[in-house]
Amino acid sequence: MLSGESTPRKRADASQEESPVYAFLERPSMIDYPGCLCGVFFTSGCNFSCGFCHNAALMGRKQCGLPWSRLDEICRKFKKEWVDAVCITGGEPTLAPDLIKLITFFRNFSFKIKLDSNGSRPDVLRECLPLVDYVAMDIKAGLSGYPELTGFTRTETIAESVKLILSSGTDHEFRTTVIEPFHTDAQMIEAGELIRGARRYCLQAFVPQDTLPDPRLRETRRTTPARLRQLEQLMKPYAEKIIIRGAQGSGTATRV
Ligand code: SF4
Repeated sequence: MLSGESTPRKRADASQEESPVYAFLERPSMIDYPGCLCGVFFTSGCNFSCGFCHNAALMGRKQCGLPWSRLDEICRKFKKEWVDAVCITGGEPTLAPDLIKLITFFRNFSFKIKLDSNGSRPDVLRECLPLVDYVAMDIKAGLSGYPELTGFTRTETIAESVKLILSSGTDHEFRTTVIEPFHTDAQMIEAGELIRGARRYCLQAFVPQDTLPDPRLRETRRTTPARLRQLEQLMKPYAEKIIIRGAQGSGTATRV
């Protein structure tokens, strides 16, 4: 269950000031950080406008953040529940002015830290990489596909972020939500060339919903397991491990 608690409050002291976190999952997740029990925290606002965004209604604009004191309570509770990692996700976390403060805050609880990003702000990513344990960056498509799929045109920033992650030594994954009519083999090969040498590349099933921003995608079928299996083979040259998420019987394939 997503918890928001975003009622405006009077600010009595620094601990009552807004953190960049506007919501969190009340139950720790077993899937958001490989091998860890993980608390998931959401920042608001995004600079992309993906037609397939499952969070567009909540995350397309800035929301009121939880006070730091509330975040402190949540982290103490998670520590008692054996949570050993946190995932900072969005929206787009690198838009949050207090992101470094947030990472340091979680670090003080000795959580491992995973940062999710769309890769649009390499300068922020450069600052964060030494401070986090794991980065998951979306590769929405090959760079040529970004304007149509996301409305984002400054694709040189995406390429820069990929290079930063690949050369950082920080554990990482890149991931693509596969929409069958859009993600042709040519589009996927372009994406693969972008991330060549990655540790993990995740192929995620697209799942239609009535609330998607693009009405055409509400009618687009879910990615078939057969297509994901095809792409698992196609993408093997580009990453050490290919992971499929959201398909029946999904698993991992290690490049040999
Ligand atoms: S980058 Fe993510 S949060 Fe932003 S619009 Fe796209 S899917 Fe939604």
